[in-house]
Amino acid sequence: MKRDLTSLSIFEMQNGLHSGDFGCLELVEAFLERIHTMEPRLHAFITLAEDQACAAARSADERLRAAIASKNQSQLPALLGIPIAVKDLITVEGLRCTCGSTVLGDWVPPFSATAIQRLLDAGAIVIGKTNTDEFAMGSSTESSVFGPTFNPWDTTRVPGGSSGGSAAAVAARLVPAAIGSDTGGSIRQPAAFCGVTGIKPTYGRVSRYGLVAYGSSLDCMGVFARSAAEAALLLGIMSGRDHMDSTSAAQPVPDFSHSQPNDLRGVRIGIPKEYFIDGIQADIRARVNEAIAQLKALGAEIVEISLPHTKYALPVYYLIAPAEASANLARYDGVRFGLQVAKGSNLAMFRDTRGEGFGPEVKRRIMLGTYALSAGYYDAYYGQAQKVRTLIKRDFEDALKTVDAIACPVTPSTAFKVGEHGDDPLAMYLEDVFTLPANLAGVPGLAFPVGFDANGLPVGMQLMGRPFEEQTLFRVVEAYQLATGHHRQEPNL
Ligand code: GLN
Repeated sequence: MKRDLTSLSIFEMQNGLHSGDFGCLELVEAFLERIHTMEPRLHAFITLAEDQACAAARSADERLRAAIASKNQSQLPALLGIPIAVKDLITVEGLRCTCGSTVLGDWVPPFSATAIQRLLDAGAIVIGKTNTDEFAMGSSTESSVFGPTFNPWDTTRVPGGSSGGSAAAVAARLVPAAIGSDTGGSIRQPAAFCGVTGIKPTYGRVSRYGLVAYGSSLDCMGVFARSAAEAALLLGIMSGRDHMDSTSAAQPVPDFSHSQPNDLRGVRIGIPKEYFIDGIQADIRARVNEAIAQLKALGAEIVEISLPHTKYALPVYYLIAPAEASANLARYDGVRFGLQVAKGSNLAMFRDTRGEGFGPEVKRRIMLGTYALSAGYYDAYYGQAQKVRTLIKRDFEDALKTVDAIACPVTPSTAFKVGEHGDDPLAMYLEDVFTLPANLAGVPGLAFPVGFDANGLPVGMQLMGRPFEEQTLFRVVEAYQLATGHHRQEPNL
């Protein structure tokens, strides 16, 4: 019987390729075949790059064959021949980039994001661009002008968002790993809804060059994979200082993939009481408590902590993110690239291009942000939000002096139905209560599956940590995943 290559881990793929069991083209074709079978039900992709991926796989095969012939496999780049998908908010040279919007038209970026270039240099093969809420504004992937992505565990439900296409693609084994972005939860929330592992690194850990700007002081690029060990491998390659992004950090990048997760003795994990409020779905509370008990059984010390300003995170985020978005999205004016709607005078051209090019959620954010930044309101809204953001950041600094990581749910409920929050933006914003604080504080957050609710939908847990100590989060989650099997569960498609 033919082996299903799509069910291998990235480490097993590396072994299989290096020992000549199968080739890069065979691997890429296996994923493409699965994509063709599943895509009609999932709609995880906006653009597929089949020809480019097969061409890249053929040249990877030449390198692979030469290395095998000369027994030089250890010299091969780490990801040679490994297919990945990239959120369509991140540039890949030569592939259309839409941001889930009409306003970019058929813009084809002339460069790859630095982090993507590093993955390509390591041999990874981009198989397609994944669906996203328009300009990453949303929590369900429903605001994409290309239509929603569906959750592989229940296709009447959303995969979360905004990186819902990347999360669904990994959950359905359309790729072994995918790249996303997280401004207020857009990696961790879809990872939780789709039962995969997702990391939002520390702000500044990964260059933002080539990540289309939403909220520049919050945006982070990160990884979805089926295990923490695989996510660690990719994050390590993407990370590090880049002279094209002045906010990228010059911090050394440890080898995230060697965390030796034998046990968790000596690790202190804090449970913030503000994250276990009324209104959390009972199954989520139960699964998260079981996971905390498991971490304790592995040797971690569990202590209760407080992050007292948590309740302000939502209003603060929904002032700061739209304010930054309103400035960042001013560049889409029909002049330089993308859509141009030219019916009358130049000024009418701006108005008509932006009027037709942006969808309702993006317009709502631009208006909210413009209002918060306008003279007379700036101090009361934007300025005040910045001050409270500092208090939220201090909560984390204080808590992380006494604990190594903070454990909590990712979301108050599991995946909701497509259309359920259709005309209620506030209900959609409430999905983010537990994920926004990490972006406001700039700390890393890792989401991973810890079981299911009564409807068989995945439940996620979040671990947050000290800036530039992603290693600790990987260590804890790798130990958990070695001891349990939740991350190996798969949807029945
Ligand atoms: N759901 C949040 C928003 O709509 C977060 C999105 C994100 O992280 N990109 O802004």
